[in-house]
Amino acid sequence: MRFSRDCDSCDGDGQCEFCSVEFHLRAKCIGDHTLDVTSKDLISSDHTVVPVDYSSDSFSNDPSDHRGIIIVKLRKGQELRLRAIARKGIGKDHAKWSPAATVTFMYEPDIHINEELMETLTLEEKVSWVESSPTKVFDIDPNTEQVVVVDPEAYTYDDEVLSELKPFVVLADKLGRLAVQLVAGGSGVKTVRVSYASARAPDDLDTRLLRAMITKGLIEPISSVFVNLVNADFTAKQRGLRITEERVILDCSPESPLEYIQVQIANVESRFASAISDSGEITVEGRVKDGIPHLTRVGGFEVDVSLEGSIILCRQVDQPGMIGKVGSILGEENVNVSFMSVGRIAPRKQAVMAIGVDDQPSRETLKKIGDIPAVEEFVFLKL
Ligand SMILES: [Zn+2]
Repeated sequence: MRFSRDCDSCDGDGQCEFCSVEFHLRAKCIGDHTLDVTSKDLISSDHTVVPVDYSSDSFSNDPSDHRGIIIVKLRKGQELRLRAIARKGIGKDHAKWSPAATVTFMYEPDIHINEELMETLTLEEKVSWVESSPTKVFDIDPNTEQVVVVDPEAYTYDDEVLSELKPFVVLADKLGRLAVQLVAGGSGVKTVRVSYASARAPDDLDTRLLRAMITKGLIEPISSVFVNLVNADFTAKQRGLRITEERVILDCSPESPLEYIQVQIANVESRFASAISDSGEITVEGRVKDGIPHLTRVGGFEVDVSLEGSIILCRQVDQPGMIGKVGSILGEENVNVSFMSVGRIAPRKQAVMAIGVDDQPSRETLKKIGDIPAVEEFVFLKL
């Protein structure tokens, strides 16, 4: 038998016939006496690899030494069936090979398919449902065309799905926060429209979590309520906040679950007039770039600023030297600028500058920025 780490017939994870041996055990207590299930009850698939036998070299007179190592004791009616895989290794590789016993266990997923609902799907829909699972848990029985569970243990992908969505969850929260801070007075938000742009099939994206995070972002900066996945919809409803969602289906590579998220607030005035889009809503849009959420649009202006610190938005007459002027005011006050980007409608016309800052600038610093003659309006948004 090979050490699994040296095995070149598999990945070295002890899965193949050269580096693993399977054992089976079946025991049932039918009598009134407790049944000791021991290492001697293990049946090896390879006669050269067997449990350590104490009986042959033991000089003890204690009869229990001759029955192998006790695994479990069964009472009348109890039954044990197990499959064990033995792998060869040394304690230096992993403590499980140290001369001591370690027992681990895992829950076996028990997956039930709602046959009634499954019946309502066409074969094509069943196939796409089966394929939507990143691991091969389900398949379609070619004879019956029914969805069947083929590998329940492969059902461990929730974390994978969540980790893919994670940066978008952060983005959703921050877009909500930005949008509500752009509302004049911060209140009176009733109608919010969220657009999710994605190249994936609409059924592939469950937006509940994103909607909850946008709701959280919209509500928390202006109230003392804590919003979470469970109470988000209820809290929104209670506050008369109506969030409608729509999908924008894109024709690009579906590698990322989403291309961008847009949050629009209708029927409100803005503290920053440039945040109002042509259609009359406060509009913010963001994307995830290299795992980091970015603000990529404010009103009709394209910008690009990572949403890691806070943000200053500044509309100015586009002219050379503006970035330098604002940058030096912030620098004098020791406010670290992490990011700057300028979105302009046309050269030398209106431009919106987005500045990412690590700390909150003082009132005086913000006033100095506002006093730059070319600056027409600006706003500080806390994230
Ligand atoms: Zn192997």
